[in-house]
Amino acid sequence: VMDQSHSSNFDKEALLEKDRKYLWHHISPHNPNPLIAVSGEGSWITDVDGNRYFDGMSGLWCVNVGHGREEIADAAAQQMKTLAYYPLNQSHLPAIQLSEKVNEWLGGGYRMFYSNSGSDANEVAFKIARQYHHQNGEPLRYKFISRHRAYHGNSMGALGATGQAQRKTKYEPLGVGFQHIPPPYCYRCPFGKTYKDCKLECAQAYEDVINWEGPDTVAGVILEPVITGGGVIVPPQEYLGAVREICDKYGVLMIIDEVICGFGRSGKSFGHQNYGVKPDIVTMAKGITSAYSPLSATAVKDEIYEKFKGPGADTHFRHVNTFGGNPVSCAVALKNMEIIEEERLVERAAVLGVNLRQKLEVLMNHPNVGDIRSFGLIAGIEMVEDKETKLPASADKVMFIMAECKNRGLLIGKNGDTVPGFSNILTLCPPFVTTDEDLDFIVDTLVEVFDLLN
Ligand code: PLP
Repeated sequence: VMDQSHSSNFDKEALLEKDRKYLWHHISPHNPNPLIAVSGEGSWITDVDGNRYFDGMSGLWCVNVGHGREEIADAAAQQMKTLAYYPLNQSHLPAIQLSEKVNEWLGGGYRMFYSNSGSDANEVAFKIARQYHHQNGEPLRYKFISRHRAYHGNSMGALGATGQAQRKTKYEPLGVGFQHIPPPYCYRCPFGKTYKDCKLECAQAYEDVINWEGPDTVAGVILEPVITGGGVIVPPQEYLGAVREICDKYGVLMIIDEVICGFGRSGKSFGHQNYGVKPDIVTMAKGITSAYSPLSATAVKDEIYEKFKGPGADTHFRHVNTFGGNPVSCAVALKNMEIIEEERLVERAAVLGVNLRQKLEVLMNHPNVGDIRSFGLIAGIEMVEDKETKLPASADKVMFIMAECKNRGLLIGKNGDTVPGFSNILTLCPPFVTTDEDLDFIVDTLVEVFDLLN
């Protein structure tokens, strides 16, 4: 889709040459032909050639309020002029205001520790959990239970929590103490069971590991409400409640990673609110600022914080982060949350999610579509070679669909390595300002492109 108003002042070849020479791309450093984005408006972005693309992944699951929000740019500029920086070993206005608002969205009872990325927020959660147990008279509790397929970040601890070999093996040894159990993946049940006859063996696995490891050695569990980057794995409705009960029974802290699911993406303020549980620690990033500025937060229950108050300094949380919670990012987050409230975008995300899911169902008729899963405004389309055997689709087929979508102006993602090293699950995570026409564009394009596979 060409943007007629775009005046192309760019020498694309010269840019590409410099890109190839100086830039190390995330994940795929050798992509010789990257999309060079220039501007964004709502759910659409424009590249150097003036081509417009629907941003079906909201960047990297994060530009929730859409691109080109002048109000956010103004809030950032205003804050930079007023007070660009002050550290949070003291305080500043935007951090105080933001903390009150995030706590309100969480339903109360939490206080915020700020960092810069989702990985940071998870590292903070692990350190707080370990220190909490230490100061609570249980110093042996240092282990965390995570799940295969999970992604919790790129740093040594967060990567230790991650359950995807292809992201980890060349960096090991990572942070120690992370155990992994199978995910609640009903389409390919790791226990070979069928819901509900399974009696939720995937949740029971937590209790088994806690007992085998020794309950007095386990500090916490970390999980997303729904595994996103691992292939949109949506658990049975009772799963999170069952995990909460097991955590309570053994004094294990429940850490919920809301880096993607938070801030309206699930159709509620936070993903876990769909399951009626109250986590001990909630980590968040991406949607907190809709990625207009780097910021993350670790929200910790007040009762846990109490253990860090002293009187001696040795009980304090000895963790400092220079940029974390800087005034500009906090002001951006506040404006982002105000926009979501004023435009009722959480409700809009819920409606869009239902509509997208309904429209996508038509793809189930295609022989290479094995399963479609969704959670709020996130959807996953699992591609297979054969519906009966569920053999994952070949890399060629998945890449073909993605490339043909891009040729038609639709950017989508692929995630979840069913075969280690290769992702067969197409993902969609559009901005909350997606229109009904945009939804038709997404689904019509997918149908057209899948038809080429027949
Ligand atoms: N947790 C989840 C669930 C994520 O999806 C991600 C990033 O994609 C992270 C943590 C890490 O966030 P960041 O890339 O900001 O470090």
